[in-house]
Amino acid sequence: MAVLEIKNIAKSYGKIKALDGVSFDVPPGSVFGILGPNGSGKTTLLSIILDVLQSDQGTYTWFNEKPTHLHRKRIGSLLETPNVYHYLTAVQNLRITKSISGRGSEQEIDEVLKKVNLHERKNSRFTTYSLGMKQRLAIAGALLGSPSVLVLDEPTNGLDPVGIAEIRELIKELATQGHTVIMASHLLDEVEKVCDHVAILKKGKLLAHGRVDDVLSDEECFLLSAQHMPELRAAISLFPDILRILDTPDGIECYFHKSTTTSLRINEFCFEKGIVLSQLYNKKKRLEEKFFELTND
Ligand code: ADP
Ligand code: MG
Repeated sequence: MAVLEIKNIAKSYGKIKALDGVSFDVPPGSVFGILGPNGSGKTTLLSIILDVLQSDQGTYTWFNEKPTHLHRKRIGSLLETPNVYHYLTAVQNLRITKSISGRGSEQEIDEVLKKVNLHERKNSRFTTYSLGMKQRLAIAGALLGSPSVLVLDEPTNGLDPVGIAEIRELIKELATQGHTVIMASHLLDEVEKVCDHVAILKKGKLLAHGRVDDVLSDEECFLLSAQHMPELRAAISLFPDILRILDTPDGIECYFHKSTTTSLRINEFCFEKGIVLSQLYNKKKRLEEKFFELTND
């Protein structure tokens, strides 16, 4: 069962089409990255699924049901930097968050502070915190009410390198504790490091989605065929640095570590062995290439 199912969501601001028929599912327990350059519609999409904004078209379901107030209790979110009182401590700030949001209990304040590794500093004033600690406190606020899903918009934006590392580590920890995390990011590198699933947006359109390992394989695959397949298979198995060979109805799939070979080299190799390829193409584009396409018009 998907935690979140998005179907054909569209949203325009006047003439600007911020989202143009976006559909994907978020599996339970995943760290799901919504990746795209600035202006690609990430915040708009998160605002719609959090019911902060109304879509023009399309539907979404949380936990396989139409969204209701009850479902939203199971979703913690961080869309904008929350208001904090700089001269109050973490505990005092979370008490205020709790009473404004109506989520969580006094006892839970300690629990969420432990989760974000701020418990030892819980009675220090906010002003004494590093950037990473401040953001961890914001995430602690989103964790009140023990939501099963966390929705975070660019959670490392504005942080220093130490803070960025802390937040990335924390997100991974939260996932191991059973939270599903849906996060927007414009950084390919961040999605690679933190997420196991990804949806790539460009100008409101979904370019690709799925497991990061699939979309962003470290391997490249070339699909080959020739008139005499057994000969081709025998020849290609001698190709230097080939990782594995898979027979498919469409031809032979040959896997390599990324950027270790080219179509040209494969073609030359086969030609030298007396085999003329009837088909040769690079099957999987790496996410990096997709992302490059996406950021370059
Ligand atoms: P991202 O979060 O990926 O940077 P946004 O969802 O914020 O993208 O924006 C998507 C597009 O919609 C952009 O072109 C942006 O300028 C436009 N946009 C976002 N919010 C508004 C708004 N309130 N009014 C008009 N245009 C908006
Ligand atoms: Mg945004």
